[in-house]
Amino acid sequence: DRLVSGETDFEESSFEQSLRPQTLDQYIGQTKVKENLAIFIKAAKMREETLDHVLLYGPPGLGKTTLATIIANEMGVNIRTTSGPAIERPGDLAAILTALEPGDVLFIDEIHRLHRTIEEVLYPAMEDFCLDIVIGKGPGARSVRLDLPPFTLVGATTRAGSLSAPLRDRFGVLSRLEYYNEHQLSDIVERTGVILDVEIDENAASEIARRSRGTPRIANRLLRRVRDYAQVSGEGIITEEIAQSSLELLQVDRLGLDHIDHKLLKGIIEKFRGGPVGLDTIAATIGEESHTIEDVYEPYLLQIGFLQRTPRGRIVTEEVYRHFQLDLPKE
Ligand code: ADP
Repeated sequence: DRLVSGETDFEESSFEQSLRPQTLDQYIGQTKVKENLAIFIKAAKMREETLDHVLLYGPPGLGKTTLATIIANEMGVNIRTTSGPAIERPGDLAAILTALEPGDVLFIDEIHRLHRTIEEVLYPAMEDFCLDIVIGKGPGARSVRLDLPPFTLVGATTRAGSLSAPLRDRFGVLSRLEYYNEHQLSDIVERTGVILDVEIDENAASEIARRSRGTPRIANRLLRRVRDYAQVSGEGIITEEIAQSSLELLQVDRLGLDHIDHKLLKGIIEKFRGGPVGLDTIAATIGEESHTIEDVYEPYLLQIGFLQRTPRGRIVTEEVYRHFQLDLPKE
């Protein structure tokens, strides 16, 4: 339930749905990825073929699902959406594949969480648009090939490294989404403001952008909260002052760090003189799971240069001491 988490929570989904850009032109930032996709989409349409399978990877909330929807829109086809953990048996995937219309986009979110046995169903499907089905059991069992309509698989993952090599190799297009800069996030906040019909000053949009950890999902979420404050305490207009004071109240600091980041960073400073300290030791000290720290808390702190990974463990950088206005430890 962190306000600054890149993950979505269930309540948000219809709000997010209403904000999704529908075309590549409306999709802000990620210029390289967009340019490439635009070319591939155009070429596939000229050849009247399906688009190559696309793997989108990057931290949560950066726009992977949105981009999958846009790909389908731009290709003029339907999109079927599922996720790695939702597919429990090979038969579940076979049912989804056989129900596709020619040209459809099949979007599998969290594709790194597919079971290996299910992945194996995907290989011939991706490569030759067919399914190998085993009929019968024991010595009498035989394998039958079933043709599938041609389709485009769009996979999304936060951990490209966890994908098996045979699966990764079957994607023709691999696109890595990057954290957004302040300017792009500011544009996203202003765009959302228009859709929500709320007036927002340029400086207020920048203020929200700076605290959004490079992530559109967080920017939109903060805007929604700040709008509440503006409605209750102001005249509904989001000014810089309102943005600042409400985000202070929400305990999101000027770099987008919250109490968990503070606990993590200050824990390393106070108990381990700034590190190096091993991940498991940090986890035990602050009472969190190691993999949660690694997957959820650390990426942004590494990205802004607040943490460094070394062979001997994690180190907090001088920036952190400056951010908290603390004296550096003496040698
Ligand atoms: P992911 O699938 O990577 O977790 P989503 O595609 O669900 O992220 O995006 C989260 C939210 O951020 C959506 O509501 C979407 O409208 C917004 N968003 C993401 N990327 C962009 C973008 N480039 N431009 C505008 N809005 C975006």
